[in-house]
Amino acid sequence: MTLKFKANILKKFVNNEGLFHLKLDRTYFYPDGAGGQLGDRGTINGKRVLGVIKQGDEILHILAEDVKNKEVLCEIDLERRFDVSQQHTGQHILSTVFQKKFNAHTLSFHMSEEYSTIDLDTIYLTKEIAKEVEMKCFEYIIAAKDVKIYFVDKSKVSSMPFRKIPQNLPAKVRVVEITGVDLSLCGGTHVKNTAEVGLIKILKWEKVKGKNTRVYFLCGNRAIKDYQLKNSILYNTSNMLSIGIKDVFEKVKREHEELMATFKMMRRLKRELVSYIVDELYANAIVKDGDRYILRQFKDAEMMRYVAAELVKKYDVVFFLGTTNGKPSLMLGKGDKAKYDVLSYAMNWKERLALRGGGKRNIITLLFEEKGSFESMLGDIKQNIMEVKDV
Ligand SMILES: [Zn+2]
Repeated sequence: MTLKFKANILKKFVNNEGLFHLKLDRTYFYPDGAGGQLGDRGTINGKRVLGVIKQGDEILHILAEDVKNKEVLCEIDLERRFDVSQQHTGQHILSTVFQKKFNAHTLSFHMSEEYSTIDLDTIYLTKEIAKEVEMKCFEYIIAAKDVKIYFVDKSKVSSMPFRKIPQNLPAKVRVVEITGVDLSLCGGTHVKNTAEVGLIKILKWEKVKGKNTRVYFLCGNRAIKDYQLKNSILYNTSNMLSIGIKDVFEKVKREHEELMATFKMMRRLKRELVSYIVDELYANAIVKDGDRYILRQFKDAEMMRYVAAELVKKYDVVFFLGTTNGKPSLMLGKGDKAKYDVLSYAMNWKERLALRGGGKRNIITLLFEEKGSFESMLGDIKQNIMEVKDV
């Protein structure tokens, strides 16, 4: 495996995003997306390689910074190469187990920075099958089988038991053989021995295109890190609830259901309370020029919305309701027969302060990004409309 090599720059150009594209006279950088896997990263003369793309027969190395010399020193990031090789070799093992044990063929393979997927030509996948597949994969991993790479003539391919034979093969094809486990035609990067894959963990699966199953999985270091993360989440949750890990799900489910029931009951109580609040507001409204005006601040935004809706329905009043719980907001509205045009007043302020918000029927809601502008509008309402010192 060549990880450090010297090369000469044959061609260099900058694209419209200001990224430098370098073509070298030789390269060992694996290109992005080839064979479904992630490409290599590393440095060229100490500058970071951000991407490696294959365009026709050319391999281009993408850098954010320029490289001056013609002869350059290239270094491939071993840690990333190993991670990608773990995922890719793991995929061979996973695909072959699905095929041998459940006659499910791998149609495609995709690797991202977070996880990898294979699409299988079946919709029949259960928890039991997934567990059985994982255990069989683990058997192959601990058996420490060699992963051999060699080339054979295209003419030999049909007589060899390959898992899958693609069309349009070149004269010499690259074989990846996991001794006694899998025989594949593949151009990607792989580890030397199945033991280096460490672990294969299926995360989840979903139906795709109505007839296939997409299986999400992690291998090696990614699987261990995922285990560490999930263990820590579960451990912290179990500590918080003072309950054993095995009982966490049932407990959380039960408490979630109780919480939802409490919310539902609270909503019902709020609705009942609304009619009393509305009557009280009406009785204490300020009478001016033949209209009744109401100004009130609420601690609870939901309560404010209920009151606004009920006021419009029940009374011909002009009202200003506000809350500073969360982001400040004001609800301005009027009954059908109230004379003061509070809706135009609201729209003027909306425009002047460039506020978000909108209205339906006789209510306009204004949302404030900061408390200052909320306070200044409230001050104007008190001083110029309500003519009160404080409410
Ligand atoms: Zn491969």
